[in-house]
Amino acid sequence: MDLKSKIRVIEDFPHEGISFKDITTLMQDGVAFKEAIKQMAEPFKGQHVDVVVGPEARGFLIGTPLAYELTSGFAPVRKSGKLPYEVVEANYELEYGKDTLQIHKDAIRPGDKVIVADDLLATGGTVKSTVDLVEELGGEVIGVTFLIELTYLNGKDKLTGYDINSLIKY
Ligand code: IMP
Repeated sequence: MDLKSKIRVIEDFPHEGISFKDITTLMQDGVAFKEAIKQMAEPFKGQHVDVVVGPEARGFLIGTPLAYELTSGFAPVRKSGKLPYEVVEANYELEYGKDTLQIHKDAIRPGDKVIVADDLLATGGTVKSTVDLVEELGGEVIGVTFLIELTYLNGKDKLTGYDINSLIKY
């Protein structure tokens, strides 16, 4: 199945010059959505995975079905102030300014095998911060996986040394 054809590309959203990759059209198609998650799980089949970790908000959409497919747990990474229990946090750079991501401090146990999942790799800042949070809690990141990779932004450079997978490339 041509999964790329299921992605809707919207020019100049949310700002002029941005070519936004809209995954909602893929997710609306049950067969395509299932196929995408199945393909994302493929490299990890036969490996023990304790937890999939996904950053707010579209990382939840991809990370939870992936965790279900791998029979692993799922842990959310959220913007500051959203998680109810004790957290650890990481700051990351945005186009303008900074933001903070947090994870519950008991979401990962030392030695847990973890996959970090998000919808899209752009500059890599979001997922690098997510990886840092997992490692701060003693988790071992055995893979980093994306539905979409914007290869021209070289986000992989922030993630050297990790096993990186992406299904659809632009
Ligand atoms: P990064 O931190 O620069 O790699 O940006 C990745 C984050 O921005 C992901 O969590 C995405 O959800 C979001 N993002 C950036 N560009 C797009 C896009 O074109 N479509 C959907 N999400 C995007």
